[in-house]
Amino acid sequence: MCGIIGYIGGRNAAVEVYEGLKRLEYRGYDSAGAAFCDGDKLTLIKKRGKVEKLLPHLKSVRATIGIGHTRWATHGVPSDVNAHPHSVGNICVVHNGIIENYAELKAGLEAEGSVFLSRTDSEVAAHLLNKYYDGDLLYAMKMTVGKLRGSYALMAVCKGENKIVAACNKSPLIIGYGFGENYCASDEPALAGKCETIVVMEDGDLAEITAESVAVYNAVYNCELQSVIREPEPNLAVSADMSTGDCPHYMLKEIREVPESVLSTKRAFSGIADKFKTAVSGAKRIIMTGCGTAYHAALIGKRYFESFASIPVEVETAGEFRYKDPLINEDTVLFAISQSGETADTVEAARLARSRGAKIVAVTNSHRSQLNRIADIVVPVAAGPEICVAATKSYTGQITALYLCALAFAGKDDGGIIEYAAGLCRDVVKNTNVDKLAHMCARSRGTYFMGRDLDYAVALEGSLKLKEISYVPGDGYPAGELKHGTLALIDRRTVSVFVITDKELAGKSGNAVEQVISRGGKVAVVTNVKGLELPQGVSEVITIPECDKFLSPLLSVIVLQYLAYRTAVLLKKDPDKPRNLAKSVTVE
Ligand code: GLU
Repeated sequence: MCGIIGYIGGRNAAVEVYEGLKRLEYRGYDSAGAAFCDGDKLTLIKKRGKVEKLLPHLKSVRATIGIGHTRWATHGVPSDVNAHPHSVGNICVVHNGIIENYAELKAGLEAEGSVFLSRTDSEVAAHLLNKYYDGDLLYAMKMTVGKLRGSYALMAVCKGENKIVAACNKSPLIIGYGFGENYCASDEPALAGKCETIVVMEDGDLAEITAESVAVYNAVYNCELQSVIREPEPNLAVSADMSTGDCPHYMLKEIREVPESVLSTKRAFSGIADKFKTAVSGAKRIIMTGCGTAYHAALIGKRYFESFASIPVEVETAGEFRYKDPLINEDTVLFAISQSGETADTVEAARLARSRGAKIVAVTNSHRSQLNRIADIVVPVAAGPEICVAATKSYTGQITALYLCALAFAGKDDGGIIEYAAGLCRDVVKNTNVDKLAHMCARSRGTYFMGRDLDYAVALEGSLKLKEISYVPGDGYPAGELKHGTLALIDRRTVSVFVITDKELAGKSGNAVEQVISRGGKVAVVTNVKGLELPQGVSEVITIPECDKFLSPLLSVIVLQYLAYRTAVLLKKDPDKPRNLAKSVTVE
C-alpha cells in the first residue's frame, strides 16, 4: 500500500526521491524514509510521520542513487525503527506489500544469528539480501525473492554498487526511462513529468537499473534468471496540478470537481460504448465487486442493470467474494470496480473470476493498473487524479459509468440526461450549506444515515465518509431496519440523517423519522421530494434539486460528502489524510 520510488542518474537523488515521495504520499503517510548511495557512502534517513519530516535531513544529501518509501504500516506500529528502508550490512531495501511467511523466515534467520531491529515483515528481505550478497546484488535479490511468499515490490541499493535492483510480485512496480538517468516507482503519478517512457514489471520480474541501462529478468520457479522484454509504453501520467487551488484541502477541491467527473466519464464512455456492448453481449448473470466506496457504487449499479436491462446482479465486497468459492461460468460478467485499479482484493477477485471463465469489466479511474491488464474491457471513470484518501468524485464517476453501462447493455442511450444531471450537481456543489448539520454531527455521540433502496446505498456511503475522516462513530442503515435493532442506539446525543429522494418511498421513510424523534434523537433530512411532509421536530432539512430517481444519488451524495468534510474540519481532523488509512489499498 505504501509508495516506493528509486532514482539513479546525474541529478541529486535526494531531490528526485523527495519529490517522488510527495507524489506518492496518498498511498501511505505514517512514516517515511530514504537511502542514498554515493560511491562508498551510504546514507539512511527514516522518520515516523509524513514525508516532509525527511526534508531537514535531506538538505545536506548529495547522491546519484536513492530509494524512498512512504509507509502504511501492516506489521509493526508507525515508528522510526519500523520505517523503511531496512538496512543490514551494506544493503538497504524498501518494500511495498506483505511477506506472508515472514515469521518463519525470521525464526530461521534469528537461529543463524541475525538480529532484528524492527517489528515489520519487510526486515526479513534486508537480512536475506545481506545473507545472499556475494558481490552481486541481482543474485542476492533472486535468492531473496525465491524465499518470499506474499506480495512485494522491492528496491535495494548496496554500498559500492552503482545500481538499483528491484523485484515484484502482486504489488505494482514500473521503471521510468530517462536519458542518462532512470527511475523505478510503485505508481505512475510518481513519475509525472519525469520521463516519457515506462515499462510495467510483471509478477516474478527482477530488474537491474543503472543510469544508462535497464535489464529485466524473470526467475520462473526460482530457476536461472531469464532476460525478458517488457514492451515500453508511453508515460501517461501528466504533471497534474497537485495544488489544492483555492481550497484549503484536496477533499473540498475534489467535491467541487464532482460535476466534471460526471461529464468526463460520459465523454469517455462514448469512446468505448460499442466495444463494451460487444464484450458483454450474451451475459446471463452479472456480479459486481469492489471495496469500500466502490462497493457502495456497485449497490447502485445493481439497481441500474436490474431496472434498465432486467438482468439479475449480485453484489459482494471483493474481500468476501474471493473466499466464497463463487459459482461462475462463461455466461458470467464480473464488474470489478476500483478507483486505482490496484485494490488487492478486487484485483484478486477479478483474477479468480477470470480463471473460472467470466468476462471481466474493469471500472477504474486509472488508465494503467493491474485491473486494466486483467480486464476484457475497461470502462473509464474519468474523474482525474483524486488525492484525498476519501473518495468523492471517483464515486460519482463510478455511478455515472455504471449508469451508462446498464443503459448500453439494455440497448439504450442516456439522451443527454447525464449532462443535465451534471448541471444539477453543479447547483448542489454551489448552493449546499451543511454548517448547522456539521455542528450537530461534530457534537453527536453517533451519527446514523438512513434511506431506502438507492437512498440506502447513498446512506452507506455518507456514513463511511463521515467515519473515515471525522472519526464520528455511526453507521448506514436501511430505514425499514431501524425498528429491528438500531433504534436501541438512538437518544438525544445521536443524529440521524435521512436521505429521501424517492417519492414512492417518502411516506415510509417519514415513519422512521417519527420513530427517531419520539426517542429524542436529532434528525436531519436530505431530500428533493416536493411537498414532503415531515413530522415536527426535524432539526434540519437540506433540499437538493428534483431529478430522475436513478440519478439522485449523484446529488444527495454531494451533501453527505460536504457534511463529512465540514465535520472533520470542525473537529480539527485532516480530511485529506485520515488516520490509519491510505488511498490505494494494495494489500489484502
Ligand atoms: N508490510 C510492510 C510494513 O508494514 C510494508 C507496508 C507498506 O506496503 O507500506 O512495513
